[in-house]
Amino acid sequence: MVKGNFYFNKLKRPYIFPIIEQKLSEVKLLYPDVDIINMGIGDIALPLAPSISKAITLAVEEMKEPFSLYGYGPSEGYSFLREAIKENSYKDLPVTSDEVFISDGINTDIVNILDLFHNSCSVAIPNPAYPAYLDSNILDGRHNRIYVMPCTKETGFVPENPSSHCDIIYLCSPHNPTGVAMTRDQLKKFIDYAIKENSIILFDNAYDAFVTSKDVPQSIYEIPGAEKVAIEFKSFSKSAGFTGLRCSYLILPKGIQVEIHKKKHSLHALWKKRQSIKFNGVSYPIQRGAAATFSPLGKKETKDQVQFYLSQARQLKEGLEKAGQICYGGIDSPYIWWQTPKGTSSWEFFDLLLHKCQIIAIPGCGFGKYGEGYVRLSGFSLQKKTTKALERIQQLV
Ligand code: PLP
Repeated sequence: MVKGNFYFNKLKRPYIFPIIEQKLSEVKLLYPDVDIINMGIGDIALPLAPSISKAITLAVEEMKEPFSLYGYGPSEGYSFLREAIKENSYKDLPVTSDEVFISDGINTDIVNILDLFHNSCSVAIPNPAYPAYLDSNILDGRHNRIYVMPCTKETGFVPENPSSHCDIIYLCSPHNPTGVAMTRDQLKKFIDYAIKENSIILFDNAYDAFVTSKDVPQSIYEIPGAEKVAIEFKSFSKSAGFTGLRCSYLILPKGIQVEIHKKKHSLHALWKKRQSIKFNGVSYPIQRGAAATFSPLGKKETKDQVQFYLSQARQLKEGLEKAGQICYGGIDSPYIWWQTPKGTSSWEFFDLLLHKCQIIAIPGCGFGKYGEGYVRLSGFSLQKKTTKALERIQQLV
């Protein structure tokens, strides 16, 4: 029989969303008429901005024209979008438009980038963290080469430099699930480490649009030297409501190199080759929609949406703190990291919130063992829901 990838057996962490679904259907049977509020979700709550929908519609109309030239596009993305990203997000930074690669989601890129590295590479991963970092490395056979960087109350929910050599380092700031962002100084320590150790940083910047603190950069390339060691991943998912449309990009500086058979290779060239083999690009209308986020109206509409989500997060945080709860995040991020009261576990507190308040939170342990003792709430919510959820929580605690 054909052999399967046996590293699937090394995926030990239970996947939390089917468990949540199961618990939810049990509660719906118990209380059929009750209104359950999902306050954990990491998905958008507002409709697509009109300027984006208009740009996508116009692009589809263009494709109806006889002899329109929009068949297969370049796998690295159309130059109109790559240049708009350079001009708007990296204007004074050491990034060129041909270092921008368009894709259909950070999730896609952050797992596919592993194609460029040997599976003997050691990998440092924050814990708790977005589960794809760990799981994709396990599937590639690196389960014995994982260095855990705890993000706990003691570390201020920020990872610390590995105490030994690691080849690849994942960083995510503003961080999912804790909602805490790294300052310039904290990031510089990692850049210095990577330069000294010849390591490569994979910087997941999915929430850059939510940054409000002055000492938190919106791009890792604001830190001098980052262009020598860091690949940055950004997405239109949360900044412009593209979770269902799918468009993102990564920045791969041309100076970063890896060794293959004792010879140096440009990672930029390897990624270009990898994409041309395995990826046929993001559709033309979606890339037009993404470019529309940089128009004056697109900027205003998407900024208003982000501000709205941040206001929901702030309201949640203030409401919880008023009720005597301990929580973090919510300043540079839509996420609130709520410490479970009286030493209850993440799942016990999840059950309590579901049964007593009919609220869904995301158990922190689903993001790694250092997430135990927390639940994640999110500002991706509508005003009425946020207010109602807070009223219910305030009655419980
Ligand atoms: N990275 C982080 C930290 C996320 O929270 C998410 C989505 O929730 C993603 C990546 C996936 O982003 P995309 O929709 O661009 O695939």
